[in-house]
Amino acid sequence: MGGADVMTPMDPRLYGVTYSGLEKLLESQGVKAVHARALWSALYQDLVPPAELKGREDFPQPLKQWCRAQEGLMDPVLSVQAAVSSTDGLTRKVLLSLADGQTIETVLMGYPGRHTACVSTQAGCAMGCVFCATGQMGFARHLDTAEIVGQIVHDQVMLRRENGEKLRNVVLMGMGEPLHNYEAVMAALEIVTDTRGLNLGPSRITVSTVGHVPGILRMAEEKRPYHLAVSLHGATQEDRARLIPAARAWPLEELIGACHTYSRETGRGVFVEWTLIAGKNDSPEQAGKLAACLAGLKSHVNLIPLNPTNGFAGAATGLVAAGAFQRVLADAGIPSTVRQRRGIDVAAGCGQLKAEWVGLRST
Ligand code: SAH
Ligand code: SF4
Repeated sequence: MGGADVMTPMDPRLYGVTYSGLEKLLESQGVKAVHARALWSALYQDLVPPAELKGREDFPQPLKQWCRAQEGLMDPVLSVQAAVSSTDGLTRKVLLSLADGQTIETVLMGYPGRHTACVSTQAGCAMGCVFCATGQMGFARHLDTAEIVGQIVHDQVMLRRENGEKLRNVVLMGMGEPLHNYEAVMAALEIVTDTRGLNLGPSRITVSTVGHVPGILRMAEEKRPYHLAVSLHGATQEDRARLIPAARAWPLEELIGACHTYSRETGRGVFVEWTLIAGKNDSPEQAGKLAACLAGLKSHVNLIPLNPTNGFAGAATGLVAAGAFQRVLADAGIPSTVRQRRGIDVAAGCGQLKAEWVGLRST
């Protein structure tokens, strides 16, 4: 599952350039590095769209001239194709179209003061999880750094326009496997946590992975300051591989070993994601196996009743069975939360709005 064989996306765009990268770029074109500050302040504090920077009157003269001379760098990275809000108003799902016509989703969830952006890292996904709308679509391409940052900026713009609030949390739980697109994802997280820009708290960012062992080990080695969520769904190698074809590449034992390494190196626990599918992985016996798997690892389990998708016949576990599953974990000293997927009416499961949209267009 390397990335070298995969088509790389667009030319560099401004949202894809780190602060130090921008300083170097300016200097290489005869503009003092110090001007990076005004540019980033306009981009990430005033949230000016890159295309409008060309006409920015309050920039110092050399920066104004540099902006005017740019081609491509200031082009928009994404545009809104469809947007829906859940009936309770707490979840907004947006289908975004990229410059080459690919479409991805971003979701904004939350209560006043506690907004979370759920962001995509790939158009489609190569991991093929059978219950996931994105997995059912297959893989189109990696997103580049600008396309990942662009989603987060888009969510922040939406929030500011509506109630002037600041985005608090980011979860990489939209379409795609973040650790299959490691470089672009880590550069994007570096950009959005930079205190000279959007200034999001690194400890409010969660990278969710299907269990990409080399990526987890790299995050540990590089001591990345983000939370890690591992989607387990099965507590034996066979059970996992039935739901997650990619699990064959990274055996469960190695995956749990990588979680221990991550926890040891970073001092942080691991979130475990477990999609509850009726009759498949929701028995007290399976909860016992999960508890055994997690013994000695600082973890918190998020139990997510399945969100139905067209390509998978499974059903969500009911709350009574979910409670019984939780009790087994609690008896083993493992904390867990049952998370109702909010906004089911806006197809808030991963990849689902796109699946519906494509379905609508083809009918
Ligand atoms: N590829 C990463 C991140 C994106 S998926 C990963 O797999 O972790 C984010 C989460 O949504 C994962 O835990 C995934 O298992 C879960 N998910 C996907 N489809 C779902 C569905 N139909 N119902 C419930 N959870 C789902
Ligand atoms: Fe990919 Fe995650 Fe969906 Fe699996 S659950 S197919 S890894 S996006």
